[in-house]
Amino acid sequence: MPSIKNQHDLQPLNTFGIKASAQYFIEVSSEKDLPELPELKQDKILIMGGGSNILFTKDFEGIIVQMKISGINIEGEDEQSVIVSAGGGVEWDELVAFAVLRNLGGIENLSIIPGSVGAAPVQNIGAYGMEVKDTIEKVECYDLMTGMTITFSNRDCGFSYRYSVFKGEFKNRLLITKVYFRLKKPPHTLVTTYGNIAELLPENPSITDVRNIITGIRQSKLPDHKVTGNAGSFFKNPVVHEQTALKLKELYPGIPIFPEATGLAKISAAWLIDQSGCKGITRGRAGTHPKQPLVLINLGGASGSEIFELAQYVQGEVYEKFGIMLEPEVNVY
Ligand code: FAD
Ligand code: NAP
Repeated sequence: MPSIKNQHDLQPLNTFGIKASAQYFIEVSSEKDLPELPELKQDKILIMGGGSNILFTKDFEGIIVQMKISGINIEGEDEQSVIVSAGGGVEWDELVAFAVLRNLGGIENLSIIPGSVGAAPVQNIGAYGMEVKDTIEKVECYDLMTGMTITFSNRDCGFSYRYSVFKGEFKNRLLITKVYFRLKKPPHTLVTTYGNIAELLPENPSITDVRNIITGIRQSKLPDHKVTGNAGSFFKNPVVHEQTALKLKELYPGIPIFPEATGLAKISAAWLIDQSGCKGITRGRAGTHPKQPLVLINLGGASGSEIFELAQYVQGEVYEKFGIMLEPEVNVY
């Protein structure tokens, strides 16, 4: 049976670097550990990977299950694609590096996103015009309440913008143990329409070029969580009805709006925060990043509550100016 630790220190395990502890803590590093887990109740469990999308505002009273199953394997192939599986505890960027090294396409734009493979389907990680849902073949889970193993096809996962059923009804119940990806063999259709990526790429770019360009952009724009605690974008970009977006465009011609599914449009949350006077502000030991205000930062020794209070302040300012309530992307506990 995996050992249960008491009053486990969470500070090194969350990228905000917040001081907190877990009443009980279990690390699952093998599928063999699963049947050995004690009977667990959903409201007292928190599943964790790399802690890069979590804010602790207090100690966690309950049990934290950390996914650490490793291993990347090639499972099969056809003319156009290769099926690759990865354990839920594999570091996400290790998988991207594995794919790019073998010239397999489909996840290169998701380079250097922190966290684990098991968390990638949870909020359908996305960046630079790519979302992980477009490569996921199936997801293997362990139901912490019934002890059953369940496989979800891509369709079963209910993916949408920064969402899946693992973030909804099955949150903290289904432990994602392994994910299968269908990655593309060359020739590749690269996704380079986002921002200025295309301008930065050489002629006839490879997927390695795309990975390198995106890595460079991210390193120059985003704070390194090992230096300045953060959890990436604190809020989701709001998706509104097209009519609302058009009205906002009349009032604020500079507002960045991107068409989504029929009748909907996505607005840049960073722009809304900036225009509400919240870029680069500090409240106590918490702040909004001066280059990317969607990222809330720990200026050193901040408590989770301090970060959360700043988040609420930003929400209030944006709501007052634009009538839009920003929704947190980060999981707050
Ligand atoms: P955790 O933070 O540990 O958990 C996140 C959520 O997933 C929690 O609800 C948790 O319960 C659940 N979970 C974790 N593992 C499992 C599992 N095995 N089974 C079931 N549920 C699980 N996100 C993006 O989408 N795009 C980006 O470009 C991006 N950039 C970022 C940049 C920085 C600097 C940082 C700090 C974060 C960024 N993020 C981004 C957010 C974050 O990296 C992702 O959400 C990532 O997938 C979280 O992985 P994790 O293992 O750290 O998950
Ligand atoms: P950016 O390029 O300054 O753009 C600001 C916002 O506008 C982004 O959030 C993006 O939405 C949207 N956008 C810009 N160009 C777009 C296009 N061509 N098509 C559709 N939407 C467009 O953003 P950034 O902060 O530097 O981040 C770059 C990318 O990395 C984004 O995709 C972002 O999601 C991702 N990222 C995510 C996190 C996180 O924690 N979730 C953290 C850092 C970076 P989208 O967010 O929907 O792409």
